[in-house]
Amino acid sequence: MPALLTQYLCINRHCILAISWEEADFNRAEVEGLILEVMKAARIHPWCGLCGSTKLHFETKALPGSVAETLPALRACEAAQSFTREFFPRPKDN
Ligand SMILES: [Zn+2]
Repeated sequence: MPALLTQYLCINRHCILAISWEEADFNRAEVEGLILEVMKAARIHPWCGLCGSTKLHFETKALPGSVAETLPALRACEAAQSFTREFFPRPKDN
């Protein structure tokens, strides 16, 4: 079963956070809610750190394989983005 990738993007298509998933396990609303929960738990700003846009939206597209098949490529992309993520400050705990 092909996996899906849901991204939380700004208007310039910079990705704030993404999750790969399969329809057998979740539905789109659950995944979008999970992205917002992860952002809050990880103290990720609810705006784009690259362009400053606060206009964010979800986008879901099919991946070319299952989660297991596409995970290595997704992990490589995540690792490449980690430096950028750490560069931007996060909100302080309340
Ligand atoms: Zn942006």
